[in-house]
Amino acid sequence: MTLNIGTAEAMHTDTGAFAAHPRATFDTGARAAAATDRSGYEPPTLPDAVVHAESVEDVVQALQLAHEHHLPVVPRGAGTGLAGGSSAHAGEVVLDVSRMNRILSIDPVEMIAVVQPGVLNAEVNAAAAEHGLFYAPDPASTAICSIGGNIATNAGGMWCAKYGVTRESVLGLTVVLADGRVLHTGRSTIKGVTGYDLNALFIGSEGTLGVVVEATLRLRPRPVRTETLAAYFPDVEAAGRAASAITAARIQPSILELMDGPTLDAVDRAEGTRHRELGGAFLLAQTDGFGAHLELDEIASVIGPYASTVHRAGGADEAAALVKARRDAIPALEKLGRVSIGDIAVPRNRLAEAFTGLEEIAARTGTRIFSVAHAADGNLHPMIVVGPEESITSGPAKEALGEMFHLARRLGGTLTGEHGVGLLKREWVGEELGETSRSLQQAIKATLDPSGILNPGKAI
Ligand SMILES: Cc1cc2nc3c(=O)[nH]c(=O)nc-3n(C[C@H](O)[C@H](O)[C@H](O)COP(=O)(O)OP(=O)(O)OC[C@H]3O[C@@H](n4cnc5c(N)ncnc54)[C@H](O)[C@@H]3O)c2cc1C
Repeated sequence: MTLNIGTAEAMHTDTGAFAAHPRATFDTGARAAAATDRSGYEPPTLPDAVVHAESVEDVVQALQLAHEHHLPVVPRGAGTGLAGGSSAHAGEVVLDVSRMNRILSIDPVEMIAVVQPGVLNAEVNAAAAEHGLFYAPDPASTAICSIGGNIATNAGGMWCAKYGVTRESVLGLTVVLADGRVLHTGRSTIKGVTGYDLNALFIGSEGTLGVVVEATLRLRPRPVRTETLAAYFPDVEAAGRAASAITAARIQPSILELMDGPTLDAVDRAEGTRHRELGGAFLLAQTDGFGAHLELDEIASVIGPYASTVHRAGGADEAAALVKARRDAIPALEKLGRVSIGDIAVPRNRLAEAFTGLEEIAARTGTRIFSVAHAADGNLHPMIVVGPEESITSGPAKEALGEMFHLARRLGGTLTGEHGVGLLKREWVGEELGETSRSLQQAIKATLDPSGILNPGKAI
């Protein structure tokens, strides 16, 4: 039993009841480590305690205690979220499942993996690769984010351009409900429609409806071949138009990622690369399957009129370096200051308008905005970088975030494509959902969590 009572400066509620939990700690260092995520949000106080669950029974016991004493619980995976979803403050207890990190089984014939929630995304892929398989939803944070967190946010990634987001790769879940009951959703078969689709309800629910303690994941055969190109454009609008032209031509890349000039500059500075010399925006395209080379020819021909340079990767190492440049974007910007990451999605034929709109927002609000996009999904990440003294939750950064949302809505899009609402985007949710949808969603929440103890103040 680990029970380390630290200074406990924030212990003003009866979260002391958690002293009865064998995995609870009140240690100040542990509470500070679990207080927030990678969104840049800094909670004003620390959570009261952290439960480091190691088993389903630990999670059940934590939620039974919380239910009995009406105590708010914040589920936490790897803490890489970008919306403040796993941030917690005084009066709350963090339920950290990162130690539940085992791959329980892989069935290479059915192409299914059963995993605990704390397993990292990249670990699932490494294990699947041993069987010639892969797990498709691959956030840029693949090496550091957990499967439970991916499910709770319905995470996307580069391969989602062709293979869909997390929802398309989850067959079944085991979830502990707010009162400690254990629920199984979905199944282990590829098809099946018995009852309502409760998988879909929990996927993307941001820890507000239950805690995922096990997942049955769909794996796919590794592609027989891949082909990769990098294209450079005079400016980001041209790159946006080129990406939209690929969608309009009904070509199906497995990766289609876009970075604007300022982001290229930041990546070059951080990694010692020289992308920015080649253009004011960068588009990475990858195709896979038997006809990968033919599909890449098509892409090169469609984007040719917009691009200043189109460069085909000479081999696997060069392709990996190009993919890495995109994965390096957020860490490179984090070296420049605190980063507030927008996550709007727009119809795929309106990417160029979205980029123009973002430049106008930056000029109007006086903020520095760097943009990348999962271009095949119309999902943009405009990133506002602020200095150490500036706030991301008030002032110009907040104003710019609000304007981004309204830009997305004007273009027929949405507030969040994959990071979730969390804490930071909640004030705009009602505007997008409308009264009927929001009150129905609140009624679902009240049915599953009548005392409102699971991740209060987040998502809806
Ligand atoms: C450099 C970088 C790049 C990124 N790139 C991408 C990207 O390409 N695509 C993308 O979608 N995201 C991306 N992200 C965001 C982040 O990695 C994802 O949102 C990820 O899914 C969060 O997983 P996590 O384990 O860190 O969850 P956490 O941050 O711990 O939690 C996220 C949310 O899930 C809930 N939660 C966590 N575990 C559980 C559980 N077991 N049961 C119930 N609820 C739970 C939390 O309460 C919270 O609301 C990136 C982040 C970084 C730092």
